Amino acid sequence: MSVSTLSFSIQKSLESKINQVDWDNLPFGKVFSDHMFLMEYRDGAWQEGSILPFAPIPMHPAMSAIHYGQTIFEGLKAYRWANGDVSIFRPDMNAKRFAQSAKRMCMPEVPEDIFIEAVRKLVEIDADWVTDKNGCSLYIRPFLFATDELVGIKPSDTYKFMIITSPVGAYYSEPVRVKIEEHYTRAAEGGVGRAKAAGNYGSSLYPAKQCQLEGFHQLVWTDAKEHKFIEESGTMNIVFQIGGKLITPTEDSDTILRGITKRSLIDLVLSWGIEVEERKVSVEEIITAAKNGTLEDAFGAGTAATIAQIAIIGYRDERLELPAMETRTLSNKIKEHMDAIKLGEIEDTFGWNLKV
Ligand SMILES: *Cc1c(COP(=O)(O)O)cnc(C)c1O
Repeated sequence: MSVSTLSFSIQKSLESKINQVDWDNLPFGKVFSDHMFLMEYRDGAWQEGSILPFAPIPMHPAMSAIHYGQTIFEGLKAYRWANGDVSIFRPDMNAKRFAQSAKRMCMPEVPEDIFIEAVRKLVEIDADWVTDKNGCSLYIRPFLFATDELVGIKPSDTYKFMIITSPVGAYYSEPVRVKIEEHYTRAAEGGVGRAKAAGNYGSSLYPAKQCQLEGFHQLVWTDAKEHKFIEESGTMNIVFQIGGKLITPTEDSDTILRGITKRSLIDLVLSWGIEVEERKVSVEEIITAAKNGTLEDAFGAGTAATIAQIAIIGYRDERLELPAMETRTLSNKIKEHMDAIKLGEIEDTFGWNLKV
């Protein structure tokens, strides 16, 4: 990937907070690096972007984002390579998805080159915060929200596009227990499930909490109309393995978030000659396969964990156990290869890494 020549105004923080960080006990998403990016939209145009010391932002109590939810976000990561380089995984894909989310939420799109360069420059300035110590990486959180000071429902005329970054520890995901949800819905056809819109997450918290009370980690969302087809798992895309093939719900709908991890792993396994079916996946098919022992693997795919293997699928009153982790050769290999590409340990033949 190439780098554009855009420039932003830069105000450096006077003192770094990096020495206060306890790298051995990093809580997820609570520690922030020294700087943040801010760019405002007003009078029908994006203004000059700036990089500033990380700080709270003033907020009018009538700010429309907090009343009506015109808010979207992204999530991506930067990695420190063994040779000292810093690299960001596929920011162009996040830029595209951010623009699509903005469009759906009736917000101005951030031009993709500005998005990518803002992410890159911010990571460059806070490069000290990108460490491979303890398997850490730098989580990057771009977000866009409406800032009109008005309690009236209409698309805002003003917005803030911001980026903050947070060093995060290695994501050791224990195999997850998921439950197929047949009452609550994450997204409906015609809705905003395909956008990374804040409200999608707010509305999923209550149903997720109910399944956690039953001992599960997260829900497997099904279609809103009949609850017959599988869509996603929690905030990850979901992939199954039957007969050596990968099977995953088609993204050809408004209801499934088009994950970059899932798209990347599909490209990877296709290059290995493995068959992938992207189609509607029925609950019945998966339950039948789990019961007759043909369901070889099931896993979530997302930026946080890369791959989160599923140990148990709850369905109505049943708890179906999936094969032991040692037998999950393909998903283990996918995770290793994806992580190795991100860390520059093997050749990036797909051109996924943006060097900072
Ligand atoms: C962000 C997200 C994903 C995963 O997307 P990645 O680009 O792979 O991180 C999947 N589903 C939902 C609902 C998400 O919000």
